Amino acid sequence: MNTDNLSINLATVRQQWTLREAVEGCARAGITAIDPWRDQVEATGRDEAARIIKDHGMRVTGYCRGGMFPAPDAAKRDAAIDDNMRAIDEAAAIGAECLVLVCGGLPQGSRDIAGARAMVRDGLAAILPHARAQNVPLAIEPLHPMYAADRACVSTLRHALDLCDALGDGVGVAIDTYHVWWDPELEAQIARAGDRILAHHICDWLVPTRDMLLDRGMMGDGVIDFPRIRRWITAAGYRGTQEVEIFSAADWWKRPGDEVLRTCIERFNSVC
Ligand code: ZN
Repeated sequence: MNTDNLSINLATVRQQWTLREAVEGCARAGITAIDPWRDQVEATGRDEAARIIKDHGMRVTGYCRGGMFPAPDAAKRDAAIDDNMRAIDEAAAIGAECLVLVCGGLPQGSRDIAGARAMVRDGLAAILPHARAQNVPLAIEPLHPMYAADRACVSTLRHALDLCDALGDGVGVAIDTYHVWWDPELEAQIARAGDRILAHHICDWLVPTRDMLLDRGMMGDGVIDFPRIRRWITAAGYRGTQEVEIFSAADWWKRPGDEVLRTCIERFNSVC
């Protein structure tokens, strides 16, 4: 079965495997691209993680994640910027093609979402020169609006692209089907995105969704029309991977990693 243009976001097997085990599992399954998370790289050690990835010839389609810019005071906002600078350095060290950004929600105690969005813009502007210098494109990932308060006050592709327009070179978007499938503007905004599409994450929206964060579905088990969205993304000029990213506490995280990867490959071929 085809695994070209398939990437595995390592959150998909984070409960089963360490970074090394996940890379080895992907290699066993014939998968040649991954997207690790910062905590996985930290647990392994940055240099060791870079070596494991290189030894297995893995392409790194992204690094998760930076962002979380809004904070109640300047010191905490500066700390977030410093942390993003380190994330950019880590991304460069492991050869990641972009740093995925979950921009952050409302600062604690705040009801000012416009203010939070301004903090996101300012935070992006602050880290962008370093990202450009390190050759790590920043991929703004709009999240489903159910996370606007606590994870990402950037909820739509339109908003993410407005930020890209304001910031210029070095910033693009990560399009995750789970977060944007419902958007009536999706087709038009994907066309607008063009060569600013840096990543394409896939997982399905289950009905009912039993947990706001940890109940994402395997492609084909929910209501998302993957081929249609993929056609739009391809028409916009994107030729990169589809990256499976499933947080699934009750289901896929409980299964053996090899079975999860096998199913990802099957569904990638039959559904996406
Ligand atoms: Zn994603």
